[in-house]
Amino acid sequence: MTEGRPALARDLMRLSGGAVTADADLRQYGRWRTGGRAWLVVEPSSAEGVRATLSYLADTDLPRLVIGDGSNVLFDDQGFDGVLVRIGPSLSALRFNGLEVTAEAGIWVPRFVRLLGQRGLKGLEHAIGIPGTLGGLVMMNGGSRRQGVGSSTVNVRGCDMRGAPFTRSRAECAFRYRGSTLQDDGLIVLETDFRFEAAERGALRREMISIMGERRRKFPKAQPNCGSVFLSDPRMYEVIGPPGAAIERAGLKGRRIGGAQSSPLHANFIVNLGDARSDDILSLIHLIRTTVHDQTGFWMDAEVRHIAPDGRVRPAHEAAAAHAAPQTA
Ligand SMILES: Cc1cc2nc3c(=O)[nH]c(=O)nc-3n(C[C@H](O)[C@H](O)[C@H](O)COP(=O)(O)OP(=O)(O)OC[C@H]3O[C@@H](n4cnc5c(N)ncnc54)[C@H](O)[C@@H]3O)c2cc1C
Repeated sequence: MTEGRPALARDLMRLSGGAVTADADLRQYGRWRTGGRAWLVVEPSSAEGVRATLSYLADTDLPRLVIGDGSNVLFDDQGFDGVLVRIGPSLSALRFNGLEVTAEAGIWVPRFVRLLGQRGLKGLEHAIGIPGTLGGLVMMNGGSRRQGVGSSTVNVRGCDMRGAPFTRSRAECAFRYRGSTLQDDGLIVLETDFRFEAAERGALRREMISIMGERRRKFPKAQPNCGSVFLSDPRMYEVIGPPGAAIERAGLKGRRIGGAQSSPLHANFIVNLGDARSDDILSLIHLIRTTVHDQTGFWMDAEVRHIAPDGRVRPAHEAAAAHAAPQTA
């Protein structure tokens, strides 16, 4: 497979208009700073570059995956045997028209929210502290304080994994808690139209400062992590509380496996203490999930996605169970 790589890399450089890296260290691309090596990483310079790259790859049998900032993915220690297409700052153009804004998928969410605040546009303040790209946020209807980006969304444009374009209205995206039909159908977000409300800039600024202060107090910052690992389940919430409370009750707050630890500050965050392997994180996810289930009867599902070497993407708890299976067999 490695023989054909230089020619493929040259083609992808031309089609994507951006950088192409062979044998890339995945620790640079995921916020947990773990994982093996990627066969090829492409960073297209435009939306057209993303479409051209995916359309070209559709004619190969290589695994392929689109990521943003890697703030919600766990790469495998065995690496990724295919082409990783990374949407980043080159795709961060914005168009403002009164209360309407069109944004490209690669813009950094905190930067986007700050720019909205400076223009007196209200609706996305809850996302000020979410360290990912807008495309990743829209795809999964991310947000905080029980809100999601979908409520300000009007239309989403992008392409499928073969590069074919689509446009979906908010209704067609059917945004739900941390999910949408974009996610269900494996579509790639390239541009989103929003509609916001007018608000006083000072009030928006104060709101954002307050949200950031609260997040700084509650969440670990210094060690690499991917934010909340487990999703909140409304049924469990009523009886036990959020995942962090359930993990704490199970006596696993601060629990360590290898270089991975359930954060002593917020149990639903797993931090990399410096030398963690992805396998340590998977083992800890499995231990937490099975212990909480034994004690409460609730299965907690992971929000974070695991990327297998063959390109399979699945919630990390599923990969964690498969990883644990041979050891318990
Ligand atoms: C410290 C910390 C705090 C966090 N807090 C929150 C929070 O409060 N609320 C919240 O919702 N999330 C939170 N997250 C998780 C994460 O930041 C968000 O889910 C973010 O939106 C993911 O964006 P990304 O660009 O990093 O996506 P990635 O991690 O790169 O990818 C995540 C998934 O999205 C897919 N994807 C990426 N880009 C696109 C695209 N353009 N089109 C289609 N699919 C795409 C990938 O294939 C992958 O399946 C937090 C993470 C961290 C590290």
